Amino acid sequence: MLEKTKLLIGAYYIDNPKFAQIDEIFKYISDEGEPITNELDEIQKQFLNSQIAEFKESYSFLEKNRPNLLKINNEELSKVFINMIDKFYEEFNLKNCDKPKVSIVKKFPHPFENANYKAMNFNEHQAEKFNVEKGIYLLEKYTAHGISEIMLAHELMHFVVGEMTKKNNQISQSPFFEEGIVDFMGLYLLLKYNFIDEKCIKNWLIFGRGNCTENYIGSIYFRESKQILWIAKTSGIEEVIKIIKSGQNGLSNLSMKNYCDKKVEPTKDEFLNKLISYYDYALTNFSISAKENYVFKNTLNLVNGKNLDELLLNELEKEEIEQVINNLTKKGLMYIVDKKVYNPNNCSIDTMKIKLI
Ligand SMILES: [Zn+2]
Repeated sequence: MLEKTKLLIGAYYIDNPKFAQIDEIFKYISDEGEPITNELDEIQKQFLNSQIAEFKESYSFLEKNRPNLLKINNEELSKVFINMIDKFYEEFNLKNCDKPKVSIVKKFPHPFENANYKAMNFNEHQAEKFNVEKGIYLLEKYTAHGISEIMLAHELMHFVVGEMTKKNNQISQSPFFEEGIVDFMGLYLLLKYNFIDEKCIKNWLIFGRGNCTENYIGSIYFRESKQILWIAKTSGIEEVIKIIKSGQNGLSNLSMKNYCDKKVEPTKDEFLNKLISYYDYALTNFSISAKENYVFKNTLNLVNGKNLDELLLNELEKEEIEQVINNLTKKGLMYIVDKKVYNPNNCSIDTMKIKLI
C-alpha cells in the first residue's frame, strides 16, 4: 500500500489525535510518505515532521491491533459499496432507479486528470458536458477502509441529489448548500448503518473537514455545513431529507430565512445527536499558524511575565517573535503588559487548528 495512504488511514483511526489539518498537511507529504519541504521554513518543517511521526505511530497501532482492517482489497471494498448504495437508495425510495457505477481509477477522466480530489461524481448533465461516463470515481491511491466509504457517501449523496433533479434542471456546478448537505447526510447514513468506525467520522470532521484553511477547498464544504447543521438542529433529519428530495432546483432556492425563528429542538435520534456533537466540536476550532503554535507552546506558563529579550526561542529573530506574539495577543492567547509578555496557560488549547503555511 502507498505510504501516504497508510499515514492517512492511521490518522482516521486514532482515538485522541494530536494532529492539525489532515488534508492540508497531506499536500506536503509525498506518495512515499516523505515530507515535501522545499516551501517550508524550519518551524513548519519541524511541525510537519512531528505530524508525520503521529500518523506513523497510529498506523503501526492499527497494524498490530486491527490487522483485518488493513487487509481490505478493492473487491471487498466494492462489496461494501454495493451495500452502501442499497441502503442509501432505500432511504430515498430510489429502488427502481439505475444504480451509479462506482469506478476505482488511477486518474480521473479528462479534463480532471490532475484534479487534487479523492473522489468525483458526474451527473447526467456533467457527464454529457465533459464527455465522460456518468457515475462515481474514486482515486485508487486513496482507497482504504474508513476513508473510501466517507468519499463514496459524499459522492453517492450528490448522485441522489442528481436523481432528484430533472435533467434539464441539472447544473454542472453545485448550488450553495449542496456540498454541505451531501456531506452531512452522507455521514449521517454512515453512522446510522454503522458502515465504518465512528472515530473515522469524528476525525474526518474535526481534523479533516473542520480544520482546513479558509482558502482550502475542503473548507467550502464545511462552511456550507453550518447552515445544514442549523436546519438539522431545529427541524430534524426529516427536513434535511426533504431538502435533498427537492434536488438541485430546491437547493438553489433554499432560504435560511425560513429557519431563522426556529428553535433548537432536542431529538431522540441518537445518530443525529452524535453527528451534531461532532460538528459542534469541530466548530470550536480557531486558527493559528505553525509559527504561532511554536511560540505559544514554548512560552507556556509565563505567569510572571518576561521581556522579549528574555524569551529565548532559537528558531526566530527578536522581531519575528514580537510579531508572532502580537498576533497571539490579538487572538487572546497571550498578553503584553508594560512590555512584559504573559502566557498563563499550562497546556496548548487542543481545538486550535494549526495552519502549516
Ligand atoms: Zn462534493
